[in-house]
Amino acid sequence: MKANINKLAIDGGVPVRKNLLSYGRQSIDEGDIKAVVEALRSDWLTTGPSVTAFEEAFAEFVGTRHAVAVNSGTAALHASIFAVGLKPGDEAIIPTITFAASAICVVFQGATPIFADVDPDTLLLDPDQIEEKLTPRTKAVIAVDYTGQPCDYDRIKEVCLNNELILITDSCHAVGAKYNEQMVGSIGDLAAFSFHPVKHLTTGEGGMITTDDAEYAERMRRFRNHNIASDFHQRAEAGSWFYEVVDLGYNYRLTDFQCALGLSQLRKITSWVNRRREIAKRYDEAFADIPAVQPLEVSPKAFHSYHLYIIRLDLAKLNVDRGTIFQALRAEGIGVNVHYIPAHLHPFYKERFNTGLGQCPVAEEAYDRIITLPMFPAMSDGDVEDVINAVTKVGEFYKN
Ligand SMILES: *Cc1c(COP(=O)(O)O)cnc(C)c1O
Repeated sequence: MKANINKLAIDGGVPVRKNLLSYGRQSIDEGDIKAVVEALRSDWLTTGPSVTAFEEAFAEFVGTRHAVAVNSGTAALHASIFAVGLKPGDEAIIPTITFAASAICVVFQGATPIFADVDPDTLLLDPDQIEEKLTPRTKAVIAVDYTGQPCDYDRIKEVCLNNELILITDSCHAVGAKYNEQMVGSIGDLAAFSFHPVKHLTTGEGGMITTDDAEYAERMRRFRNHNIASDFHQRAEAGSWFYEVVDLGYNYRLTDFQCALGLSQLRKITSWVNRRREIAKRYDEAFADIPAVQPLEVSPKAFHSYHLYIIRLDLAKLNVDRGTIFQALRAEGIGVNVHYIPAHLHPFYKERFNTGLGQCPVAEEAYDRIITLPMFPAMSDGDVEDVINAVTKVGEFYKN
């Protein structure tokens, strides 16, 4: 009988749960809905007071002088690259374990992304790699706070300082994270955030850039509005129809009703981050008993905000590959995922920038054995136990 209970769902056994538990999901309450409805009933649907209110609250939360709202995390990265003036011939160093948007923003401005390898235990940008990949054309580093753990900024900032490099942090995973007690978003020259529904807080689609530099902030405010030199309010005050397009710009504006949602969501961020950390702690405890499953390591300097919880499989202790474990967990009702295919292996970068296999061996090796488990604040304790039971069941079945 016991063997029957443990029969994997993928082999026709009973799944741990019937409905698929997704890896990430937004939390929307009545307060959020009310805030959006109020904005919809107001005079301003875009470029109004909710945008400014959300920007000010976000800047205060991360502890920077400025925050600029845009309509995606990708737009936030693009605006950052524009603000710092990257141009054709310039290079930016980016860890290869990230979402493709971290590097594509560099290409948007005609500059060249240089992919760097990662630390094997955290999969965060390896600071030694910056010096390794440095050339006279290197202008910036885009450090990615992958999974919600801040990078090794003591060392990264030192390398940037010594080589006059601009530090942009892609902090799309790391709202609410801290490094040496300092809030993520206030660590580099600029930080980019995303408000896609799987991220810590959502505006449907949306993004934000935080910085202490008034000139960068001003440039990004123009950039998101077609690079028009005087905005609508300034024109209204001057009683003038006059405006000038001063550079190539985009429409990257975030609406007022989205900002109203963002502001309402931001009020809950601390409790959400705490819930994510609680879930991570329970996973850590449970997986300590499964030798084939190794969570990523966390630095003592980091206050991790757990956008993602990722395990590495010890393939020597298993008789199948990651693909089989992935399919078996899906069959058990666990919506596992993989973050990420190393960026330098995407056909676009391979063809355009001549990247390819062998260029970042640590990332390539890690990629074959990572799996992302469900992690979002609305998960119940029962959901968390389902994930643990499924990983235990599948791990036990396929162990060597
Ligand atoms: C989500 C994400 C982005 C892009 O954000 P969008 O809002 O989807 O455009 C960029 N970088 C990282 C690391 C992300 O996770």
